[in-house]
Amino acid sequence: MIDFLGDVLAQRIPTVSQGEQHDFRWEWLAEGVLSFTPKQAYEKAIVLSAGVHGNETAPIELLAQLSQDIFAGVLQLKVKLILILGNPVAIRSGQRYVENDMNRMFCGAHQQFSETFEAKRVAELEQLVADFFQSCPAQVKRYHYDLHTAIRLSLLPTFALFPYQTHGYDAVMLACLSAAELDALVYHNAAGRTFTHYTSSRFQAASSTLELGHAKPFGQNDLSAFSAINQVLRSVVTEQALPARQKSAIKNFRVVDSIIKTEDDFQLNLADSAPNFSMFQSDAVIALQQGKPYVIAPEQVWILFPNTQVKKGLRAGLILTELRS
Ligand SMILES: [Zn+2]
Repeated sequence: MIDFLGDVLAQRIPTVSQGEQHDFRWEWLAEGVLSFTPKQAYEKAIVLSAGVHGNETAPIELLAQLSQDIFAGVLQLKVKLILILGNPVAIRSGQRYVENDMNRMFCGAHQQFSETFEAKRVAELEQLVADFFQSCPAQVKRYHYDLHTAIRLSLLPTFALFPYQTHGYDAVMLACLSAAELDALVYHNAAGRTFTHYTSSRFQAASSTLELGHAKPFGQNDLSAFSAINQVLRSVVTEQALPARQKSAIKNFRVVDSIIKTEDDFQLNLADSAPNFSMFQSDAVIALQQGKPYVIAPEQVWILFPNTQVKKGLRAGLILTELRS
């Protein structure tokens, strides 16, 4: 077996890189990348990734436990699975990223950053994921859960983002996100350069980016706060029934606009510490530039990922409307 997280933290290359155990074959494909293939026929191929931002520790620990329990035979694997710890260098140094944010570099965008470690890593992950999906029979359903945590507080503490996509939203994935007790789903309205946009657009995978609350340094996380998503991931890889949702119904939001900072004096009409999903009433000024209102709420809207510190030309927040059924 492989010590999935321990090898990454110690920067160790395993002496044995593939093998068979229980009813599956496993293969160590690169640092922080491990695949499992059941010997029996399977219906789903699933990418589980964490640590694309290196300091988002709790989901990294969940994937490490998951791999241990698969090797130990505690979990009976029923799907083809690839586990990915996205940014090993940043994981070791406890940083979000070293030189560039990997989750802005997928879909070929890494070619603009050819010399950096993160650009090479994104290219490597794109190739490994392509090989993984293309090695499956055509009828196998493809999934990608990319697990994150946030620094900013959030009025809706846990949520998932769907990349902009032209194929339908997968009912199994929606059921999993609901069972994971997420508070909200957010549907993007435009293409991005995220890992999930890559798997969704290139391989028609059912993909979502999960924001699972707060993380602390390794070993200090209260993993019980992540027990709902942990249970769901275990159900997903073993094809067992999902746990029942205990919370009220999940809320749905659509991205209607991105706020782009174009001037140095850009300001948001919001405290720096304001939580995600802060609300603006219709006609409220959301952002100012050059002393004038720059973005005004067209109706009641919510703001996600507000950040005035971005470079000019980059996104300083997303504007959402709620979808009510
Ligand atoms: Zn993240």
